[in-house]
Amino acid sequence: MAVDLLAALAAVDRDLLLRARVKRTGGEVLWFPWYRRRRGGGAFVVGRTIRFTPNWYAASGYGRSSFGDRSRRSTLRWLMHLAHEVGHLPQAERFGHHALGRLRYLLAFAGQYGSRALLGRWPVHDGAPLEREADRGRWVLRELLVQDRRKGLLLVKAVQAGDRDAVLGWLRQSTPLIGQLQTRYDRELAMAR
Ligand SMILES: [Zn+2]
Repeated sequence: MAVDLLAALAAVDRDLLLRARVKRTGGEVLWFPWYRRRRGGGAFVVGRTIRFTPNWYAASGYGRSSFGDRSRRSTLRWLMHLAHEVGHLPQAERFGHHALGRLRYLLAFAGQYGSRALLGRWPVHDGAPLEREADRGRWVLRELLVQDRRKGLLLVKAVQAGDRDAVLGWLRQSTPLIGQLQTRYDRELAMAR
């Protein structure tokens, strides 16, 4: 269900998503500069693994940053964040999975963040080209939710309930609009380059 949904939203290869894993990090990697820190904790991709910080799994204990209580709100947060992180999987493929490829991918990020910070370009994290490219799925999902709140709520409820049929039905209905939104995103991305 998650694979079908994320493959459609982010236009990421289904097989790549099937091979991917979602894991929890220890607390020790919180210093990574490429974390999305704004709301406390974040996620990143190493190879084919998407790693989320512990607060994503906690029902409580991280204040407003506890996203593991299985509420509608935390379900939506997970969905949005996954829709972004899966956009990094094809990038990691591009750089390769041997040690050198992984290092080069890491350095490409560090280079993009670092040069943006030095040049005073804002936002440092979300404006980096690799981030913008990875953000397609989240942007599309956000647009869908904004355009039709009632339909968005149906999706979140279906995901929360693990209702595969409802999610696939929603997806079938939304396919034309998702395609239009992706085209729009890719066009704007190309113009920004
Ligand atoms: Zn990212």
